[in-house]
Amino acid sequence: MSNSLVDVYGREVNYLRLSVTENCNLSCFYCRSSPETCGAETVKEELLQVEEIYAVVKAAVELGMSRVRLTGGEPLLRPDILDIVRWLTSLKEITDLSLTTNGMLLDKLAFKLADAGLTRVNISLDSLEEANFKKITNGGKLSSTLSGIQKSLEAGLTPVKINMVLLKGINEHEIASFIKLTQNQELDVRFIEYMPVSEQDSWGDLFLPLDRVVEEAAKIAPLISVEGDHGGGPARYYRLQNAVGKIGLISPLSRHFCDRCNRLRVTSDGRLKPCLFSEEEVDLRPYLDDTEKLKKKFVEALIIKPDPEGVSCDSYNRMKQFKGKRTMTQIGG
Ligand code: SAM
Repeated sequence: MSNSLVDVYGREVNYLRLSVTENCNLSCFYCRSSPETCGAETVKEELLQVEEIYAVVKAAVELGMSRVRLTGGEPLLRPDILDIVRWLTSLKEITDLSLTTNGMLLDKLAFKLADAGLTRVNISLDSLEEANFKKITNGGKLSSTLSGIQKSLEAGLTPVKINMVLLKGINEHEIASFIKLTQNQELDVRFIEYMPVSEQDSWGDLFLPLDRVVEEAAKIAPLISVEGDHGGGPARYYRLQNAVGKIGLISPLSRHFCDRCNRLRVTSDGRLKPCLFSEEEVDLRPYLDDTEKLKKKFVEALIIKPDPEGVSCDSYNRMKQFKGKRTMTQIGG
């Protein structure tokens, strides 16, 4: 019989998101919120090494977690990323081993990652216009991400999911172009509401509820509600009539899904985070050589996973609750 981790509020927690580095080769203005945090990478000695990552994930799967996502920073910047994937692939309890990336290095790595055992990739892409992409990412090259997407499809890292963070006044005019990507290709495009995670004053200027996406989609073709895959995730899925790919909506603010939260996060310096929007962390580092102690720490984190009822349903009040000390690059999204 398979075991499972269930928290005090009855949520089954089966999904581990693990940041493997804080370094990134892009510098998206809304992600790296302030110049101070921009330079604050994990010091090398604190970064979990391959065997330590393996130890953490082994403890998690022994407790019943079965889905693992590698993230960052940019996970493909880790020179040992293929080793990390190979080590984790050897844990047969993992049914879904995925990775979130900006895609810049996928052109070279997609086939190698697939060979190492990676199941699929999520690729972040906030603009389909060269100049806008460059502005948002602070100098990134759109063509690199686009060829990374193509290589991932060819390598079978499917379904390839594109994550687009909707930013008011920045990329909202591109909603229709993103929706159209799903019409003829096996691409799922997921729109994500911008979230204030650290000390940022400008959130009110960037936040846009995803209702806009539904309105734009309806202008193109009828929108049909469909099941998502890898059940229990935060996205609501739709498909344009006759389209190959799906459209996902992830609305942490306008329709929060804390009552369905199925995840724990590990930062690249080995801290377990029970909730993206809470400052609470459980340090795993002193226990990396002892699976049983690591398991106890996981249970500890589960116990302090916040009460979903305690979260305000009003998005603006909710935003005020979201002032953590870490940036998205440190947590891994
Ligand atoms: N470098 C990888 C990438 O680009 O996907 C992984 C790390 S990145 C922090 C993970 C995701 O978090 C990206 O899709 C990014 O757009 C998203 N993200 C960062 N800051 C965000 C914010 N304030 N609100 C919503 N999503 C955010």
